[in-house]
Parts: sequence; structure tokens; C-alpha cells
Amino acid sequence: MSNEKIPYKIYLEESEMPKEWYNVRADMKNKPAPLLNPGTLQPMTAEELAPVFCEELVKQELDDTTPYIEIPEEIRDFYKMYRPSPLVRAYCLEKKLGTPAKIYYKFEGNNTSGSHKLNSAIAQAYYAKKQGLKGVTTETGAGQWGTALSMACSYFDLDCKVYMVKVSYEQKPFRREVMRTYGASVTPSPSTETEIGKKILADHPGTTGSLGCAISEAVEVATKSEGYRYVLGSVLNQVLLHQSVIGLETKAALDKIGEKADIIIGCAGGGSNLGGLISPFVGQMLRGEEDYRIIAVEPASCPSFTRGKYAYDFCDTGMVCPLAKMYTLGSGFIPAPNHAGGLRYHGMSSTLSQLYDDGLIEATSVKQTEVFEAAEYFARVEGILPAPESSHAIKVAIDEAKKCIETGEEKTIVFGLTGTGYFDMFAYEKFHDGVMDDYIPTDAEIAESLSKLPKVD
Ligand SMILES: *Cc1c(COP(=O)(O)O)cnc(C)c1O
Repeated sequence: MSNEKIPYKIYLEESEMPKEWYNVRADMKNKPAPLLNPGTLQPMTAEELAPVFCEELVKQELDDTTPYIEIPEEIRDFYKMYRPSPLVRAYCLEKKLGTPAKIYYKFEGNNTSGSHKLNSAIAQAYYAKKQGLKGVTTETGAGQWGTALSMACSYFDLDCKVYMVKVSYEQKPFRREVMRTYGASVTPSPSTETEIGKKILADHPGTTGSLGCAISEAVEVATKSEGYRYVLGSVLNQVLLHQSVIGLETKAALDKIGEKADIIIGCAGGGSNLGGLISPFVGQMLRGEEDYRIIAVEPASCPSFTRGKYAYDFCDTGMVCPLAKMYTLGSGFIPAPNHAGGLRYHGMSSTLSQLYDDGLIEATSVKQTEVFEAAEYFARVEGILPAPESSHAIKVAIDEAKKCIETGEEKTIVFGLTGTGYFDMFAYEKFHDGVMDDYIPTDAEIAESLSKLPKVD
């Protein structure tokens, strides 16, 4: 098909939207390593996971063999309120760059929570409701996940308790108010509501909190409150499964216009948007049907793939969660105060970690100021104000498109534009004022953190 015939936005009809999620683990020969019980170092069983997570989600978490899992009708109906998300042909960006490459982006910022996280939040809230639970607990750092979950819980009339890292709670009052608008209770973490919170406050008075600490608080409240479970917005296999809706829609839209991607790019925090975007494409690679170049982009300040170690580690600072085998910088690693809050996690999805270890995907890291340069360039050309997290993918997509200028190759580049940046204006302000820094951890700092990995084997 010639370029002129491809519209700016490639939409799917409602009838073309996916009816099943795709579970890439089913096609992996080398399965992701199982979660381990930190006490016995044996794989976690469904019974052990049941007090923390909803039953159906435990099943999905442990299912390495079923390729397609039906999306319940109630979830499909909710998806229809803001999906299919558009796949956009970035004609303006291509023209401005003067590249022969064709650039497409899948835009997930078209809902009030402003990111892809709603795709999994609604699924997790649905299964909690179906199980007859009263509510769920969670942590939020930058606030996107807490916002998405509060929207999902209000839809299903579930109570939602969010532990928000104290520094974000204070710096992002509007995020907090959006959550409260949807009926969630938002508590700054560490708090005096939990044993672990009290202990952390006693040991570190005046601490501004961390994601790992907020996770420990949310898990404690879930396990101690009748009718509550804990939910998590990234990293887990179940979250990648729900996010496969992004990749399935992308593939259906590309197929519809007869286009095949050469390079697929996404930012990687815990790995859920990237995992979701690439799942159906990686499935083709695993089955020997097609080949793609897939690039994970992470911040140079928190480089789990590019400088971390593939090993079992704790998922939280309180060390109450199961151990996961993943590319990690160590659960005690504190990244420099980077403005892409959603990319500051020390570890990475165990599914993506295995794919990376098997050479199916590559990874690169980029510096914060170059990310904001790309973000601003993109905003001015394509109109959308991107989230700092998403802008990591923009940066690398632009770099790849520029390489095509030199080689003259007409490559097709697809990247995930995970969300909008309206709540990140402090970060943009720092960039505009020229006071943004690019802290990169030293080898010694990473080695020190990795020396504290749990001993497994
Ligand atoms: C949370 C978030 C991310 C990173 O999380 P993943 O699980 O790696 O996808 C990326 N972009 C936005 C907008 C986010 O909110």
C-alpha cells in the first residue's frame, strides 16, 4: 500500500478489538523463572499466593501454558469506553526529521488516568469484585497506577486504599485529588497505620518514603484486613498478560493496512507496557514466523537491563514479597531523583528478563536531559505532551529514524507512547530552566547494591 493511502490514525472497529489476551509465556521454550517463597526458596504455590492476591489473578500469574485467555465481557465493555487506542502514523515527525523511515506510535494516554495502566487496573478490579472482596490496597509512586486503580475500583464499587510515596504525595497534590475524586483513600507512606511504616519512621525519622516501602505497607494492610487483597501495576506476569491488549490492537491495525514493523520500541520500568506491546510480535518470533528488532529503553539512572544482574531478588524493600528472578540492581538500590517516576523500579518483569537473556530483545539506556529534548521536540511536532517515561521510547525512535536518513533505508518503526505528561510540569520546568541533572550511578554503587542480593541455589 502506498504511503498516501495510510491515514494519520489507524483505528480498529469495536468488532475488531481483541476478545482474548495473549499469554506469551505459552510460546516460550525457556519459561520465566517462578516466584520463590523467601523462607523455603521453593516455588510459590497458588495456596501461598492466595492470601495476598485474588484467586483468578493467581491462576493467571502461574499459567505458563495457555496461549489465549478470554477477556471477560465486562472488561471488554469498559475497554470500549477508551479503546481501541489509536495507532498514529507520525507523518509530521517523519517530515520534520526528513527521514525515509515510517514511524507509528500506539498512544495509550487517551483516558483520564493518562496511561496504559488502566488496561490492567480494570482487569484486577474486576476479578476482585467477582471474588466478592470489599476492596484492594496498592502503592503508587508517581501516581499513575494509583489513579488508574481508583478509576477501576469506582467503576466496580470497590474500596481502594492507596499508599503513596510521601515525596510524591506532597509534590503531586493534583494526582492525589484525582484519586480522591474517584473515591480512593490516599495515605502518605511511610505511615503510622502499619507496623512496617511505624518501624521505618522510628528508624528513619523524616524519610520521604520509597516505592519498596509503600509496597510493604500495602501488602501488610491487605493481608491483615478481612476481604482485601493487594494489587500491583507492573512487573507481574498477570499485568503483562492484560497489557497484551496494546500489542494485539497494534498488530491488528498494522495487518489492516498491510504494514510490517521492522523495529519495535518501548520504555521499560517494570516492563508491563513493553511486554504488552511486543507480546504478539515476540510470539511470532518464538514460533519462527517473523523477525523483529525489539528495543527496551531505560533511564541511565536506573539501568536494570543494561547494567543489572539476572538473579533472584526481593521485589520490595521490606522483603515481605516473594523472590523474583529478574534483571535487577538490587532491592536496596535507590535511583537518583529522576523525573520519570514510573521507570525507577530496581527490577524488571521476569518474562522480559528471560526474553532479554535469550537474545530476543535488546536494551539501551538514555540520559534524562536527552529524553526531555526528545519530549519537547515531539510535543512541538506531533502535538501530544508526552509523559517523561514515554519520552524514553520517543528518544530512541527518533535516533533510529535518523539512522535511516544516513542509510536511506525505509524502515518501519513502531513505538509505544504510554501516556501524557500533564502532572510532570515540575520536571519540564527544570528542563526549561536548565537545572536538570543526569546522574548516572557508578559501577561501585551498583556493585555495592548487588552484593546484597539474597543467596539462592
Ligand atoms: C508506569 C508507567 C510506565 C512504566 O511502567 P511499565 O510497567 O514498564 O510499563 C511507562 N509509562 C507511563 C506513562 C507509566 O505511567
